[in-house]
Amino acid sequence: MWETGLLSIAVPCFNEQKGLQRFVEAVTPALETLGHPYEILFVDDGSTDDTLALLIALANANPHIKVIGLTRNFGKEAALTAALDFASGDAVIPMDADLQDPVELIPQMVAHWQAGADVVLAHRQSRPGDTPAKRWAARQFYRIISRLSAIPIPEDVGDFRLMDRKVVECVRQLPEKTRFMKGILAWPGFRTETLEYTRPSRQAGNSKWPLWKLFNYALDGIFSFSTAPLRIWTYLGASLSLLSLGYLLWVIGKTLLLGVEVPGYASILSVILFFNGVILIGLGILGEYVGRVFIEVKGRPVYLVKTRVGFQTENQP
Ligand code: UDP
Ligand code: MG
Repeated sequence: MWETGLLSIAVPCFNEQKGLQRFVEAVTPALETLGHPYEILFVDDGSTDDTLALLIALANANPHIKVIGLTRNFGKEAALTAALDFASGDAVIPMDADLQDPVELIPQMVAHWQAGADVVLAHRQSRPGDTPAKRWAARQFYRIISRLSAIPIPEDVGDFRLMDRKVVECVRQLPEKTRFMKGILAWPGFRTETLEYTRPSRQAGNSKWPLWKLFNYALDGIFSFSTAPLRIWTYLGASLSLLSLGYLLWVIGKTLLLGVEVPGYASILSVILFFNGVILIGLGILGEYVGRVFIEVKGRPVYLVKTRVGFQTENQP
């Protein structure tokens, strides 16, 4: 089955009209030389430029290209979820449309897959295309999440990876609406190999990830894959209660021995302010989880499809 296995390249696109042609021109020769049947599945994530029209034109001219158009911008994680749902390959490789994921790695990934690996990760050895601030933030993020998360989330590995069909099917069974794909893709496990690469700069267009968005994404990751922030409050509460008990005993002893003392306004005020702050942080963290429960309970679909081009049957996924 592996010799003839269908390869799917799954590409989420949001306002990528400038680089699409170049992307197809770079990926096609790499896939042709492999000798596998292949498809390139683009998911247009509600682009506001001509990305969708361009994709449809590409699909009409090239039978290997399939297009899913979403009804609006659902975000990269949702677009990638759609791509995994509609990709029909025996192995699926998610890629960014901006050629930041080098096509030269594809043959190596496929070679590992044929040798029996179920997942082939592409590990960014260095990322000279990113600003020092982004690199620093990424490092801190991986440090925190690797400590907090119950499953290991590989460091400096993006969505660019090869997944066997059975892994894709496992990923598709995860129904959560907060799609932290780094965690979701890592969750099934399976036999995993890792390739090293240097992440180049974007070839065209702009990154859609300003630092604050990455920060929110990091929080999503932490709150979706760990309950450690909740547990911190159990420990903090218990330690503070013990300390308060000690203090109470000390005050009682002092009052019995030395009588009542009136001063203490400043210390009382600072203690009240401090604990109010602590309580508010605790409430905020509880709120993060309640908010996520709210989103999950509503059970809305992760994305909505408005256009399909290049599919033979209408019954997917
Ligand atoms: N993307 C998307 N929806 C979005 C934002 C981004 O489908 O709302 C796509 C984008 O077109 C690209 C990929 O996700 O193919 C990665 O985005 P980007 O290059 O902006 O991220 P970075 O490489 O800077 O992390
Ligand atoms: Mg990019």
